[in-house]
Amino acid sequence: MRTLAALLGASALVFSSAALAAESAPQIGRFGFDEAGMDRTAKPGDDFYRFANGTWAKTTPIPPDRSNFGLFAALDELSLQRSRDILEEAARAPGSKIGDLYASFMDEAAADAAGAKPLAPTIDAIKGAPSKAGLAAEMGRLLRIGVNQPFPFTVGQDDKNPDVYVVQFYQGGLGLPDRDYYLQAEARMTGIRGDYEAYLARLLTLAGEPNAAARAKAVAAFETGLARAHWTRIDSRDSSKTYNPWTRADFDAKAPGFDWQAYLAAAGAEGRMSFLVAQPSAVTGMAKLFAETPLPVLKDYLIVRTLNDYAGYLSKPFVDAEFAFNETRLSGTPQNADRWKRGVILVKGLLGEELGKAYVARHFTPETKAAAEALVKNVIAAMDARLQTLSWMAPETRAKARAKLAAFTPKIGYPEKWRDYSAYEVRRGDLVGDVMRGEAFEFQRNLDKLGKPVDRTEWGMTPMEVNAYANFTFNEIVFPAAILQPPFFDPNADPAVNYGGIGAVIGHEMSHHFDDQGSKYDAAGRLTDWWTPQDVERFNALTAQLVKQYDAYEPLPGAHVQGQLTLGENIADLAGLTAAHDAYMLSLGGKPAPVIDGFTGDQRFYLGWAQVWRRNYREENLRQRLLTDPHAPSEQRAAVVRNLDPWYAAYQVKPGEKLYLAPEARVRIW
Ligand SMILES: [Zn+2]
Repeated sequence: MRTLAALLGASALVFSSAALAAESAPQIGRFGFDEAGMDRTAKPGDDFYRFANGTWAKTTPIPPDRSNFGLFAALDELSLQRSRDILEEAARAPGSKIGDLYASFMDEAAADAAGAKPLAPTIDAIKGAPSKAGLAAEMGRLLRIGVNQPFPFTVGQDDKNPDVYVVQFYQGGLGLPDRDYYLQAEARMTGIRGDYEAYLARLLTLAGEPNAAARAKAVAAFETGLARAHWTRIDSRDSSKTYNPWTRADFDAKAPGFDWQAYLAAAGAEGRMSFLVAQPSAVTGMAKLFAETPLPVLKDYLIVRTLNDYAGYLSKPFVDAEFAFNETRLSGTPQNADRWKRGVILVKGLLGEELGKAYVARHFTPETKAAAEALVKNVIAAMDARLQTLSWMAPETRAKARAKLAAFTPKIGYPEKWRDYSAYEVRRGDLVGDVMRGEAFEFQRNLDKLGKPVDRTEWGMTPMEVNAYANFTFNEIVFPAAILQPPFFDPNADPAVNYGGIGAVIGHEMSHHFDDQGSKYDAAGRLTDWWTPQDVERFNALTAQLVKQYDAYEPLPGAHVQGQLTLGENIADLAGLTAAHDAYMLSLGGKPAPVIDGFTGDQRFYLGWAQVWRRNYREENLRQRLLTDPHAPSEQRAAVVRNLDPWYAAYQVKPGEKLYLAPEARVRIW
């Protein structure tokens, strides 16, 4: 098995196998930070990211199967390797679902021999639809097997009544990453659109369809119409704008042109009376477009959507075509991941908690769980202390904010109750069937929640995920096992680095509940107005400053960070790092932090933060993210330190240096 050292790249080779063997030594560097990866020729006040990570960035190539690479990706590789070991053992004998699914995927020869045949019944059903009503029913069946289309829905909590599950509709159906890709006039986008049409034609040709180029052109034109109806990502992340209750009758009245009865019945949701629709005008516009578009074009559209979504489970020509467009063309990734990695990702997606159970038994200790729980408590306590003295908020709102914080549910490592997959039938050797049944199982599992009490033990990520999340309607923060390891969290590292790493990640997720959207939810996870209007006004004025600060960043010539799209994440970084620093100070108990390798405690704290964000991007991937990702790029995330007074003191940052902000220009929200 590869160690993290091998995965981190050249500069991280400072940590030897001897260091790994010694229980008390941190896994990275002498105190949990990779000093060899710094670029000490950079001034911290000019470019803190480069100061902390410059040599690492210069000497660490992006692996050919990745669109970007940094600490998150390195830990992800470790998770993949560990999962592979579990799956290969399980696959040795038939009978376990995870082993059988993995074996189905790993049989590349069978996939190659089958060509497009496994999809033939699905495609024939689309072709055979006698009418638009019949096609709407097909769409309901395709939704159940996970095919992306204009009117997807799932089951979630009602934001204004979080004790009740409701059917939630949201816009879908685009083959390109965002509406901008269809609508922007610049040459880069017209080039992508041309290649997209060629890709759709290639899929049709591989499936044995005649006249592919003209049919692909018509499909792309239809999708452009969908894109016109779509909301922007900025509007789509606004919890107030996207809360729109519809009755069953509203669909026929407000979005005529589409056979909702046929669609809902085939998907298994007819008979439901209450719905939430995230982007109502998009649903209306797309239904109208459906009515105006000839039946053969709609059929071709669903055929290419199905081929695209299932290409990875078909023969090599399909796998290669899908990768060449979606990953190489759109994200710059030159080479597909080894088949075993794709197999692990499939099992993680369809049987994540079955695999997760085995993963945590091997790779997550009760001691780590206990240590992480203690850290979470410290960061929450630090945030609470800060809320008590927050000056811009009315005392009554502040009291409610503290009550919300006190009501947080932290989930650490893995779910206390594992998902029951017994209704999912895996047949070793039937890859496409296994994927379809897995998707349908998950879809039905969600539908079955309707009318039942809300299950608060449910997790939205697997334990193998190097990530974390905040769920507003549960008022919870969730940290999967795989992020609770070095370099985010190393029990043998200097506390300053741990607080700057996992402490800030904890603070970040916690602060999401107080970001521009999370702050709209109260202690019970209910979307409601619990602030005074004056508080809302003051909060909006503060966040507007942050929007401006990030709008000014231009990571690539002409391509700016979108301050409004990334606002929630930037608030969470700012507030989370602030709370983590407070927690670090509290942990010192009034004693001065030691100086290590010439770095003060505060200096090491901010280095720990910057280290977490080291990441090299392929240009195409960075461009795509600037348009679609609600997170700012890593370099700009590291630079949030410019709003924090202790960072100025730690590095003696002076006016005139590039990151310098005058004290009154530093944004302080929480
Ligand atoms: Zn976040």
